[in-house]
Amino acid sequence: MTNYLRALYYLYRMLRRAYWPQDKLVAYQNKNLRRIVEHAYESVPLYHQKFSEAGIKPRDIKTVEDLDKVPIVQKNEMRQRFHEAISKEFDVGHLKELHTSGSTGKPLFFYVSQAEDEFRKAKHLRANISCGQKPGDNWVTITSPLHFAETTRLQRALGIYASTPVSVFDDISTQVSVIEKLRPDVLDGYSNSLLLLAKEVEKRGIETIRPRFVIGGAELIDPSSREYIEQVFHVPFYDQYATVEMERMAWQCPEKTGYHIDADSVVMQFVDAEGEAVAPGERGETVCTSLFNYAMPFIRYAVGDICVAADDPECACGRTFPLMKIVEGRTDSLVVLPGGFALAPFAFIAAMMTFKFYDSIELFRVIQRREDLLVFKLLMKQQEVNMRVVEQELLAHLRSVLNLQSSNVAFEVEFVDDIPLDNTGKFSIVVSELN
Ligand SMILES: [Zn+2]
Repeated sequence: MTNYLRALYYLYRMLRRAYWPQDKLVAYQNKNLRRIVEHAYESVPLYHQKFSEAGIKPRDIKTVEDLDKVPIVQKNEMRQRFHEAISKEFDVGHLKELHTSGSTGKPLFFYVSQAEDEFRKAKHLRANISCGQKPGDNWVTITSPLHFAETTRLQRALGIYASTPVSVFDDISTQVSVIEKLRPDVLDGYSNSLLLLAKEVEKRGIETIRPRFVIGGAELIDPSSREYIEQVFHVPFYDQYATVEMERMAWQCPEKTGYHIDADSVVMQFVDAEGEAVAPGERGETVCTSLFNYAMPFIRYAVGDICVAADDPECACGRTFPLMKIVEGRTDSLVVLPGGFALAPFAFIAAMMTFKFYDSIELFRVIQRREDLLVFKLLMKQQEVNMRVVEQELLAHLRSVLNLQSSNVAFEVEFVDDIPLDNTGKFSIVVSELN
């Protein structure tokens, strides 16, 4: 059973660490890094082997900078060798099993101890509290039923930081009716589900859903859609970045300078194809080292996302946690075209936003049907537009802004009546039909 008091104690300490002086934070991070590296080397066969193959010992990793010496672990390797990835110091029978959604492949199963699970819950709350959430707030989360059990019975009984879930698979009018009754102070959910909700709320002229702020995450959304959500609810929208393995990792504070990285519990690095750190402001594959997962450590673990390192190191809020810029999408949703030219999902969002009929488009999805064929599915708003003109203009626009004039990639446009959610309840902007 969850030790709720311990979770609150973790939370109390966590909230203070976000304001620690820089040198104290760095020392704390390095101390915890040395501990987890030593632990992984001594008790986790997978890491022992990786360290040995690279010719390194735990004493070679004294600071975050030394982490570059450690080979990167891919999700696939972790999945295939997960029995070797669990620490011998833990009895699997006493651990909690979790898994990733497997939206674009097989899920990764992993294990956390009871204390680690409580730490994760506290970590989840820190970001929300930093944006102004209070203990007794009505907190409503639009999510997949898979996550309904995450709020414990004790939390519900006490009514403290207890989230009420609403299924993302319910039709939108049901969601609106349920949420209207729940009267949320904090409205939370996948970014695209919040967008659909905002559209329905505006369409029906509903004035009774008045949260103090909205929290989104888990998927890409364009800046104008965020602004739209803010306008409909007359409140700020804060974006958060999490993975199932490491829970909440980076989040916007009310200043929205960037995303504060949870530096006391994760070391986040952004690397290029050679594994070298990218420069500030550049995009890179995100490689994470968890400082709290002891049952199944994650060291130099490629989480499968592309992020942009911050070029602005400080935030006016006074929190010292370092910043990152944005999440650009998942590495496995990169569209790789003939000749190896790759486009991140965010490139399509940026391209569509500058399209002159963008305001007439309700939703879109890009399907890579063949290596050299991209199909743009468009769900249009109910207004009079000439489909033929939209199609021709879009084809020319895409070729120009995606810089593919001389490429032999073909584009097609399909007008559709519906673009369904993924089976995880999230909404992928890019879907590959290639093997
Ligand atoms: Zn801040």
